[in-house]
Amino acid sequence: MSGVEVTRVNAPAPEATRAQLPEPLTAADRCDRCGAQAYVRAVFPEGTDLLFCAHHGREAAPLLAARGIEVQDGSERLAEDARG
Ligand SMILES: [Zn+2]
Repeated sequence: MSGVEVTRVNAPAPEATRAQLPEPLTAADRCDRCGAQAYVRAVFPEGTDLLFCAHHGREAAPLLAARGIEVQDGSERLAEDARG
C-alpha cells in the first residue's frame, strides 16, 4: 500500500553553508619565516594560509594588504601570554 514515497532531505544547517572560520591561533602555531610562535595568520583566497610571528606579521602586513589578503591579527594575545 505504498503511495508515492516522499523522501525528506534535511537541509543542512545554515551554519554549515557558511565559510569555515579559521581556528584561533594557538601556541603550537609557528611563524613560517622564523619558527617563532605565530600571532598573525594571512588567509589567501585559494584557501591556504601563512602564519607569521608578530615581527614578521608586521613586516608582511603592507604587502598582504596591497594584495587584498585577509589578515587575522592575534598579536593582542601577546599581552596575555607571560613572557618566555
Ligand atoms: Zn617570524
